[in-house]
Amino acid sequence: MSTTNQKNVAGDQDAALVGPGQSRDRGREPGARDVDPVAVARLVDRLRAIAGQDHVYTHPHQTRTYESDGLLQYKVTPAAVVLPASAEEVREIVRACFEADVPWVARGAGSGLSGGALPVEDGVLIAVSRMRRVLDVDIPNQRVTVEPGVTNVEVSQAVSADGHFYPPDPSSQIVCSIGGNVAENSGGAHCFKYGFTTNYVTGLEVVLSDGEVVQLGGKELERPGHDLLGAFVGSEGTLGIATKITVRITPSPEAIKTMVAFFDSTTEAGSAVSAIVSAGVVPGAIEMMDPLAIRASEAATGAGFPEDAGAALVIELDGSRAECEARFDDVVRRCEACGANEVRVAQSEAERATMWKARKAAFAAMGRLSKNYYVQDGVIPRTKLPEVMSRIADLGEEYGMAVANVFHAGDGNLHPLVCYDGDEDAERAEELSGKILQVCVDAGGSITGEHGVGFDKKRYMSRMFEEADLEAFQKLRCAWDPPGLANPGKVMPTPRLCGEVPGPYRQHPLERAGLAERF
Ligand SMILES: Cc1cc2nc3c(=O)[nH]c(=O)nc-3n(C[C@H](O)[C@H](O)[C@H](O)COP(=O)(O)OP(=O)(O)OC[C@H]3O[C@@H](n4cnc5c(N)ncnc54)[C@H](O)[C@@H]3O)c2cc1C
Repeated sequence: MSTTNQKNVAGDQDAALVGPGQSRDRGREPGARDVDPVAVARLVDRLRAIAGQDHVYTHPHQTRTYESDGLLQYKVTPAAVVLPASAEEVREIVRACFEADVPWVARGAGSGLSGGALPVEDGVLIAVSRMRRVLDVDIPNQRVTVEPGVTNVEVSQAVSADGHFYPPDPSSQIVCSIGGNVAENSGGAHCFKYGFTTNYVTGLEVVLSDGEVVQLGGKELERPGHDLLGAFVGSEGTLGIATKITVRITPSPEAIKTMVAFFDSTTEAGSAVSAIVSAGVVPGAIEMMDPLAIRASEAATGAGFPEDAGAALVIELDGSRAECEARFDDVVRRCEACGANEVRVAQSEAERATMWKARKAAFAAMGRLSKNYYVQDGVIPRTKLPEVMSRIADLGEEYGMAVANVFHAGDGNLHPLVCYDGDEDAERAEELSGKILQVCVDAGGSITGEHGVGFDKKRYMSRMFEEADLEAFQKLRCAWDPPGLANPGKVMPTPRLCGEVPGPYRQHPLERAGLAERF
């Protein structure tokens, strides 16, 4: 094993990074390249020798299980699925793919919502779901080291008896893997106060696309040199595969108080969010549900939320008992001043759990109201909430499609769920989703808050980034993975050869503004 500080990650610049750059194309699939079928057949034999006969799937009945992630609109069946049991097996599998020149995709729990774990046709899917060991719990140093297939919630469970927890909490936390969280830089309800995955990962063991194992960071928080750990977190499986993950944990708060406030409109609820935050209160979580999301969630959970409410804010304060009590009344008053017509306070852990169930079940519950829905994920400055919500409603009306909204209001991280009936409406739903993302970008926001770019949103990357920025991303990617075998066809809108010179030099906007220079 080497450390990346010693490794020349500039790599060789000759090999090809190939991808189709198409959207919703059911023909040639993402990352498609000319893979020699004989090489694949030989590779499958090697994979069986490495992981065992029972842990390599090639029959369509088996591989179809892995054809999509949580974004069911895209489907690709891989040539083979392999389920390694250890980091050493991952290393051997990746090395075998490198020698056969066959691309591969890492998969955790497959709950991603941007098609990031969508397989590559003729490629190998490396599913780490058997790698479920908690390797080290180090309470004095507040660190936990796990294998990548451990679920998010299992990290908190491993340390709860010692009075600690792992704060980033995606709503999918009971199924999603820590490996997937690292790859997506996942967020969750409590990230407004506590920060995202990137703020908690201190060390990674990574297998690069040539099979070399590198160690990035460790238990310590700071290391000299370029932030390679930071580059890997959020890289969506395009730089390598994480086989060991060390995260920071934090003491559980002394007290938690949870409430849900109901309003007549999302505009009123949005102004309550701004009022609370402007007053200097940092809630542990502040989550919004619109009327459609409330109705769907109520149908699924029976939490007792009024079905005629115009908006619900689930607000949680945590910290010392004294601070919680003092702040709580203030938050209730501010909600009422902004138009809350009812405020319910959880009186027990069971009531708190019910409020959270109502919020966290909202995505899945949408299936009760609509045959299909398209989940989007954009970010806006918090203060633009009322304006953007009304623009989304207008777009929904224009397209004749209902759009439900359930989101992390504190972070301005929206999740519009575009509802549609049959497959014939799928493309219009997707078009509407794209327009909603444009509204987010126009409002000074981003095309993704936490679900990643994956396959679904790579076509929108150039709405946010200049060609010069995309070139810089591409160089970084090629430096880690010169042959382009790790999750090709994802994230980058215009894949090209790693060594290719991408046209004449154009001045970066920062250069034009005199804020940066080329050297
Ligand atoms: C109902 C629902 C609610 C959700 N709520 C949230 C939320 O609140 N916040 C949020 O951020 N997300 C949320 N998500 C999205 C999703 O759960 C997260 O993106 C999660 O981190 C994905 O983890 P996974 O194990 O399922 O990864 P997968 O879907 O299997 O993979 C995701 C990406 O990670 C890569 N990858 C997986 N494992 C590794 C590895 N070991 N090394 C390198 N790359 C790897 C894959 O190649 C892929 O690009 C939600 C999803 C659902 C279905």
